[in-house]
Amino acid sequence: MRILTQPQVTSLLPMGECIPLMEHALASLSRGEVVLPLRPILRIPGTHNVFGMMPAYSSALPAFGAKMITVFPGNHGSGLDSHQGAVLLFDAADGRLVALLDASSITAIRTAAVSAVATRLLARDDAATLALLGSGVQARTHLEAIALVRPITRVQVWSRTPAHAVAFATWAGRAHDVSVHVCESAQHAVRGADVVCTVTSAREPVLRGEWLAPGMHVNAVGASQPDARELDSAAVARSRVFADRRESLLHESADFLTPLREGLVSERSVVAELGEILIGTARGRERADEITLFKSLGLAVEDLAAACHVHSRAEREDIGTEVALGGLRPTD
Ligand code: NDP
Repeated sequence: MRILTQPQVTSLLPMGECIPLMEHALASLSRGEVVLPLRPILRIPGTHNVFGMMPAYSSALPAFGAKMITVFPGNHGSGLDSHQGAVLLFDAADGRLVALLDASSITAIRTAAVSAVATRLLARDDAATLALLGSGVQARTHLEAIALVRPITRVQVWSRTPAHAVAFATWAGRAHDVSVHVCESAQHAVRGADVVCTVTSAREPVLRGEWLAPGMHVNAVGASQPDARELDSAAVARSRVFADRRESLLHESADFLTPLREGLVSERSVVAELGEILIGTARGRERADEITLFKSLGLAVEDLAAACHVHSRAEREDIGTEVALGGLRPTD
């Protein structure tokens, strides 16, 4: 079994490679090649901390497996990522455990890569201004990813803790060729934006529908559990809604389930899964003035596809640590 650490995964999974990997994974899902149970979530009593188990199989990949991940939102501001864990890969031919990879890096990169896929399919071609609500790990990878698929020149960032938005702006100004503006409110950040990414651990809405203007595209990335929201009901009701997977949206997203309960949207309001657009059975943006919304829940097949790619590069380039864990039949 090969063990791959956070720096090794990061170097083997450049954003530019991860975006097409996510396109293949989502297309494969929509072609029916993927087995993807809804993820069991173990809630740690008395906290908002969770332990998620995310298994996936794809006939298009050489291995199947699972991401085992904890989400501890309180880690933010410490030296620890709020997402901790590992992706386990099992050989599809003989069931051997072949790799264990850091999940913080895979999660950070693949999530933003999927938002880039959504942005490529749904945002206007001339989208140049990116609003980020939130300034943590996902804010950083989202800036990198979105700038690869649209000609982003200006970033408007808001964060609950103003000093964190300032720190983000300092980093972003150095790391990317964009002008970065720290905004005093989420509403100010959204004003004039072409693409809006909500990347917070908020449990109550941070994005209001009344702020959205014709032609905007929203990637809603936080709130991936049925008891947390980033969007108010109007934001969903005003938008053409796209999902990574309908089944996940209808079980895991309070952002969608709340307006559904309120009668403001119906299950038919979900225009398509991203994979359906990729395989040509559905269409993405149809008019320059419509508001599009991609609700990301995060799918185990995204982790699986990213991990298979990292593992195969690691084998070719002889990176990582080989450990003989076991799995052998006893001999006499
Ligand atoms: P971080 O811990 O790095 O950052 C959290 C961000 O959320 C910070 O900017 C923080 O603001 C903000 N925040 C926390 N609480 C609130 C609140 N009550 N109101 C407004 N803002 C708040 O997290 P990540 O960047 O790694 O993840 C961001 C979100 O994306 C999380 O909800 C995470 O679970 C989700 N996620 C979704 C995935 C998917 O596939 N859809 C995959 C991975 C993550 P400040 O620092 O200013 O206080």
